Amino acid sequence: MHEMSLAISIVELVSDKAQAAGAQKVTVVELEVGRLSGLLVESLVFCFEAAARNTPAEGAELLIRELDGRGSCQVCGHSFVVDSLLAQCPECGGYVVETVQGKELKVVALTIDE
Ligand SMILES: [Zn+2]
Repeated sequence: MHEMSLAISIVELVSDKAQAAGAQKVTVVELEVGRLSGLLVESLVFCFEAAARNTPAEGAELLIRELDGRGSCQVCGHSFVVDSLLAQCPECGGYVVETVQGKELKVVALTIDE
């Protein structure tokens, strides 16, 4: 399961940061997840809770902000919201669209208890 390996990476990352800061516990983890990332948010939350057991991140609240997909047409330069990686430009009908947002998964903020 893709979400599980990502959840483990997130737990390792935030645990390292908490330890580096001399904290015992991570209380809140804020994430940005793009809608084109293919990740299921519910599944990610479930996996995070499981992966966080017996780590400083155990019991941490996961705040997830979902980002819309955005594409930029390479033909006419139009920028628009896309819901798949195979988007068509609504302006010129072109299919050469670069995805500029929506595939990310990143930790944007962390609250730790010292
Ligand atoms: Zn276009």
